[in-house]
Formats: sequence, structure tokens, C-alpha cells
Amino acid sequence: MSETTTNSMNKRKNFILVNQGFVCENCGEANPPVKGTCRNHCRKCLYSKHVDDKIPGDRKSTCKSLMIPIELDKNGKKGYIIIHRCLKCGKTIKNKVAEDDDFNIIIKLAAYKHI
Ligand SMILES: [Zn+2]
Ligand SMILES: [Zn+2]
Repeated sequence: MSETTTNSMNKRKNFILVNQGFVCENCGEANPPVKGTCRNHCRKCLYSKHVDDKIPGDRKSTCKSLMIPIELDKNGKKGYIIIHRCLKCGKTIKNKVAEDDDFNIIIKLAAYKHI
């Protein structure tokens, strides 16, 4: 048996870019991959999923529960940030707003905090 191990798995980064499409478990929207950033929440209802553990994009979490958008934050350099909270374990994760996110929902989210 010959072993074909690649070194690519050994690279450690603080941020792992995962860019793949997914079907939302909350509303059923089929989300295509986005250019320039990673798709980590639904563009229609903004729900996310608890898949990352310590590093964004590591997909190491065993929780796998839905995360609801609870707040909108404004970051000077990055633009708007959605704060998601996990329905099961309560962990909060910050995610950048994607270009094709439903703006009406973002406005609703902003209204909670009066940005
Ligand atoms: Zn959705
Ligand atoms: Zn969780």
C-alpha cells in the first residue's frame, strides 16, 4: 500500500475560508457560494448553523444547531456584522453581511439596536 499524504491538511491558519453553497435548514433557500467572502449564513432569513468550533471555518463543532441572527453591528472597516446566537448551546458568532443578503431582514435586525 502506498501512502499519498498531502501537506495541505497540515497548514494552520487563523481563518479558514470555506466557500460553498448550502441549503438553509430554516427556510429551505438554496444559497449559492459567494465571491470574495465565505457563505456562512442564509441570504434570505440570515440564519446560520453552528459548525465552527474555535476557528472560523474549521467546521469542527459537534453542535450543528441552527443559529439565529440576534443583532446587527457596525464595523468601520468591514461594514455590517451580523451576530448569530446558537439555539442549542448559546454560543455567539459574528459574521460579515454578504452582498446578496436580504436587505429587508437586515433593516429589521438593525431596528432592534437602532443603528
Ligand atoms: Zn434561510
Ligand atoms: Zn451551538
